[in-house]
Amino acid sequence: MMTHTRGFVRTALKHWLGQIILILIIGISFWLLIHQPRSVPPNLYPYLTSLKPELVLSCIRDGDSFSPNRWADLLAIKSTLSAAEAKDLLLQIRNHTEYNDLNWGNLSQGVRNTITQRRNYLISYPFYLPGAYVFPVQGKTWYQDSFGADREGGKRRHEGTDLFSPEGTPIISASSGRIEKLGWNRLGGERVGVRGDDGNYYYYAHLKEINPALVIGQRINKGDLLGTMGHTGDALTTPDHLHFGIQLPNEEWINPYPFLAVWQHFS
Ligand SMILES: [Zn+2]
Repeated sequence: MMTHTRGFVRTALKHWLGQIILILIIGISFWLLIHQPRSVPPNLYPYLTSLKPELVLSCIRDGDSFSPNRWADLLAIKSTLSAAEAKDLLLQIRNHTEYNDLNWGNLSQGVRNTITQRRNYLISYPFYLPGAYVFPVQGKTWYQDSFGADREGGKRRHEGTDLFSPEGTPIISASSGRIEKLGWNRLGGERVGVRGDDGNYYYYAHLKEINPALVIGQRINKGDLLGTMGHTGDALTTPDHLHFGIQLPNEEWINPYPFLAVWQHFS
């Protein structure tokens, strides 16, 4: 088998057509390799959604004057250790010690691995990276963490965050991606669904009007206009609000609240 392959490569290299085919094969393999969907680690989202927005924001603020990923170093350390345990590491970071050069003292290898894994998550899946996503409501808005709250007397749970603003307030896309769903459904009313470049599904419901320029399959950038705030669908009798949801590729809805609270600061 090996000699056959080697023979083919040698013959191919002698002919210009063979050379082109070889280059194509290498090129396509490389393209497939870098474009294959990243499998999301199972403990990624439980960690990301457990973070307090105040902690995330303070780490971004404190890390700002250092290297680009310093906020992730700070956040991984502060979200894993107690203040007393973290003290020495934070001092080293303040003295500009790079992450890989940190002296971990007597922290166990297990704890160290957890911190490093969390830091890598924060950098590789940049939900909290300033500017990577935008806050979906343009204008004054009020919202709180209501993920998991009872709906229809306990028949189902609230699978998103409600953001309240006056009717007609512009709603923009939080992520870049493609329009996947558009128009009416029973609960959501006028709704827009965007398949983000990160693989997640972003759901915007109860709109008054959908931007008439949108079509299914269309490419969309973060910040593009999706429509206006309303109270359509099962929000008919409630104050105007946007129901914003994030669904993972495995169809699990995650709590968007901590992300929203951080995005709002950088939009
Ligand atoms: Zn809702």
